[in-house]
Amino acid sequence: MNLFIVAALLVSGSSKCVGPDYEPPLQEWDGPSYRIIEVRPELIEPLRGLFNELEYRGARPVLQSGYRSYERQAILHLADPKWTEPPGCSQHQLGTAVDIGWMGYGIRSPYDATLWALLAELGPKYGLTVTYDGTGDIPAEPWHLNYQLVRQIPWTLYML
Ligand SMILES: [Zn+2]
Repeated sequence: MNLFIVAALLVSGSSKCVGPDYEPPLQEWDGPSYRIIEVRPELIEPLRGLFNELEYRGARPVLQSGYRSYERQAILHLADPKWTEPPGCSQHQLGTAVDIGWMGYGIRSPYDATLWALLAELGPKYGLTVTYDGTGDIPAEPWHLNYQLVRQIPWTLYML
């Protein structure tokens, strides 16, 4: 990682969006999910830890989404602009974001506020924090967590 580029990004507060050619390193998630999902390799261990703890607390988490390609994000945004970022601008394209749901329920089924509260409570212990709490332009998404190796480092670093 080029520290000058990092510094430049931090100083300029440059755009948080990536181009269509951006491809992060990826690894397949081997925990609970309904389909093949890839995330950045450094998320695997924290996710395992979080899932283990959620299960220990009686929840049945399932990974709903991880890395998304530019094309996939474009399709999702076209279909649902209110709930999804434009292509290039989603944390999912960096491979650092995950959507977690509960076995047997969809991600948009906040049937049990206790489960979402548990996710928000335990996530930060593993570097995974809820991105959208409903105070910005994007509606609250209690299932969407983004990984930051060091909490204070902005996620724009993952674009490098
Ligand atoms: Zn998400």
